[in-house]
Amino acid sequence: MEKTLVIFKPSAMERGCVGQILARFQQKGLIISGIKMMWLDEAILREHYSHLVEKPFFPHLLKAMMASPVIVVCLAGLDVVNVVRMMTGSTNGREAQPGTIRGDFAMSNQENIIHASSTAEEAVVEIGRFFKPEEIYEWKPEYMDFIYSSL
Ligand code: GDP
Repeated sequence: MEKTLVIFKPSAMERGCVGQILARFQQKGLIISGIKMMWLDEAILREHYSHLVEKPFFPHLLKAMMASPVIVVCLAGLDVVNVVRMMTGSTNGREAQPGTIRGDFAMSNQENIIHASSTAEEAVVEIGRFFKPEEIYEWKPEYMDFIYSSL
């Protein structure tokens, strides 16, 4: 099954809403294939946000992403990249639809609770950036047959 990367940013860690958001993903029927806590450093953030390094807000983004440890999660499921992006909502929390994670938890462009991979290709690269191969588990809970039974 397809996989995607989610990062619980320092805004989620500080506000103590990691459990609530992880519960949304599990309730939806997504499988946790990998999960760990880590501090991000400037080198990995420059790689991860390479499309933003020239932006004036980049130094602020760097500082915000290193304000606490983060939790990185690899989720698996059918069309999981698109499903998680839909559940995440627009970048700016003030513009994100209510019902999405950013729409329900964020009021900021920068402090927007989670990162989620944008495309399946990007997800492969991002999972490789944050996880060692042996940290990703290929498994499927038994009850998944009731969620994915139309396959
Ligand atoms: P995403 O894929 O929705 O996370 O959006 P981007 O890849 O465009 O941006 C990456 C992250 O940079 C966002 O999630 C925000 O945390 C941050 N960011 C994006 N735009 C802005 C901005 O205009 N100002 C600030 N301060 N941060 C931003």
